[in-house]
Parts: sequence; structure tokens; C-alpha cells
Amino acid sequence: MRPWNFSAGPAVLPFDVLQQVSAELTDWHGSGMSVMEMSHRGPQFKQIITEAEQDLRQLLAIPDDFAVLFTQGGAQAQNALVPLNLLGLSADKTADYVVSGRWSQKSFEEAQRIGAVRLAASSNQIREMDATEYAPYTWFPEPAQWDINEKAAYVHACSNETVGGVEFGDWPELDIPLVIDASSDILSQPIDFTRVAAVYAGAQKNIGPAGLTLIIVRKDLLGHALPQCPSALNYTLLEQQGSMVNTPPTFAIYVAGLVFKWLQQQGGVAEIERRNKEKAQLLYETIDRSGFYANSVAPSVRSRMNIPFQLHDSQLDELFLKEAAEAGLLQLKGHKSVGGMRASIYNAMPLEGVQALVQFMQRFEEKYG
Ligand SMILES: *Cc1c(COP(=O)(O)O)cnc(C)c1O
Repeated sequence: MRPWNFSAGPAVLPFDVLQQVSAELTDWHGSGMSVMEMSHRGPQFKQIITEAEQDLRQLLAIPDDFAVLFTQGGAQAQNALVPLNLLGLSADKTADYVVSGRWSQKSFEEAQRIGAVRLAASSNQIREMDATEYAPYTWFPEPAQWDINEKAAYVHACSNETVGGVEFGDWPELDIPLVIDASSDILSQPIDFTRVAAVYAGAQKNIGPAGLTLIIVRKDLLGHALPQCPSALNYTLLEQQGSMVNTPPTFAIYVAGLVFKWLQQQGGVAEIERRNKEKAQLLYETIDRSGFYANSVAPSVRSRMNIPFQLHDSQLDELFLKEAAEAGLLQLKGHKSVGGMRASIYNAMPLEGVQALVQFMQRFEEKYG
């Protein structure tokens, strides 16, 4: 059996998908070519990208007035490309940012290089709730507290802070477009497109291989790119040219398409969400029940995808990682800014993998607690 892989990204893919990729790697559907060797403008790849888009639209119930763009650069390139493409929606070239952790802070900083963006809210401070003190980036600023500039081109927020393990999805109804970085929780639950005007995600967490960046954007936001926006990454041109301004990441799109079909076979996003809840609940319960492990994120915004946890004695961290790897549990080391451990349990991680982790954690606690 393969080990269970808890990497934060690039992350585990469905085993069935890897096997299918392997089976058709050198000859895709009798074409005599690998997907890596095909023209992106040929009929075979046209079929691959068209089906990928259709399946994604079906999975997330994406309305027809939204464009789906397959592009490159990763989520961090979007930190510049979102303002380059959308700041022109505001006469003042300004936008608002909600900062809830490391990734949205990076988005805010990069956008400052492009325009006069503002901070609408930040969780980079200690917060008291229910007689508990929450450290910076372990809670989410409630929408009612956002200080929104009505003239902003958009409000930017991150639905899942991969490093801090903070997830939020109860988006408000706003008069200005809401743009979400969903790199680490896209397709883990439904998205309310009546509240969200644009979503982007690097593929390597919950979609497929690194190299693909997905953008879902309401079409009425297009046509306002700043003159310095690179043409190959201009949303309007990408929409007009079917994501083929230049060569798209063809192999990554193909694998993402297989992941979309796998998700449909599992029962779609509603069923995956149910499983994600079950997986996360099992792990949080194990952490909370023990005096040995701890997660310090405010309970209402704990991530179902990335679950950081600390051992009560950080001197045991190395031993935990070593014994976990020996037990077939890989890549549990926490992000350096948080320390401790982090279990990323994306869509492709089955309940069995989380059960194996929980059993290991309990054994480790009995031994060293
Ligand atoms: C991983 C991640 C990023 C950065 O992604 P790259 O594709 O490496 O640029 C940005 N935002 C979130 C929420 C992430 O999880």
C-alpha cells in the first residue's frame, strides 16, 4: 500500500487518477501521442479542455455569466494579476483587502505595488472571544467588521489560510465584487456565486499538478485591465481566446480534468463536502480530547483542509515525524512560521488515511505522553 501523504501542496492526488495517467501516458486514447506531445490547438486537446471546463462547471454549478480560465503562474501571480485585471473597475484604482493569514497578507502586499489598495480588516492581532484569547491569524475578521470603501474595485479575501488553518465561507452580500483566493479549499464545498464575483486557485492543493491556475470570474468584470497587464495573463483575452492566448499548461489541465471526473464519480461536491466534514471532525476531536496535542484556531473557523497541531512538548516533534514516516504517514511537518505539525486532508485524502493518522497519534501519546 502507498503511504498516506499529508502534504500541504503539491498534495496527494486520487490514486485512480494517477493510475489512469500512467496507463495512457504514452498513448492517449489511441492517438499515438502523449497529452504532453499534442498541439494545444488540435482536436484531441480541444476535447480535453472542453470536457474539463464542462465538468468543473457542473461540479461547482458555475453560472453561465462566469468565465472559466485555465492559466499559469500560480496563485501568487494572481496577487498581481487580480489588481492588474480588475483595479480598472474603480475610477480611483483602489481595492480593499481582508487579511486573515500569511497568504492574504501576501496578496495585500503585492497589490500595493500596483495600486492604492486599502486594508478593510485584519486578524493580525490578539482577539478575545468567549473568554479565550486568540493569537493573530487564528481567527477570521467577521464581514460585519469589514471597513469597506464603496468606491473600491473589489474586496479580496482568502477562503482558506493554508498555513494558519483558518477557513471561512459565509460571505456577505456586497455591492462591490468579492474576489476569493480559494487555492487550498476549492472543490471541497460549494461556492455561492451570488456572493462571490471571482475565485482563483493554484491547482496543486485540491485540483491537480502544479503549473495550472484556475480563475472563475464574472464576465461583467472583464474589459478593465490596466495597460501594463501582461497579454498572456489578461482575463479578457483569456476569455476571448478560450484560455489559449499562449500555450496553456496542457498536461496539468488534462490531469485536472481527470480529477473533475473522479469527483463526479464520488458523488460530486456535496458528497465530498460531507466526507471532508467527517475527516476534519475526527482529527479535531482527537486533538481536543487529548492533553498532548493542541490546535489554537477559533473553533468556528477551523479549516477542514489544513489542520495545524502542536505537541505539548515541541522537543518530541522530530521523533513524531520520524515515527509517523515509519508508520507510512508522510509530510506532516508544520509550516515553519507556525511550527509543530500540519495535516493537510484535501479531497483526495480518504477517511482511512485520517483514521490511520489518528491511531498513530493516540499510540504516540500513550508512549510519550
Ligand atoms: C499555496 C497557496 C498560495 C500560493 O500558491 P502558488 O501557486 O505557489 O503561488 C496562495 N494562496 C493560498 C491560499 C495557498 O494555499
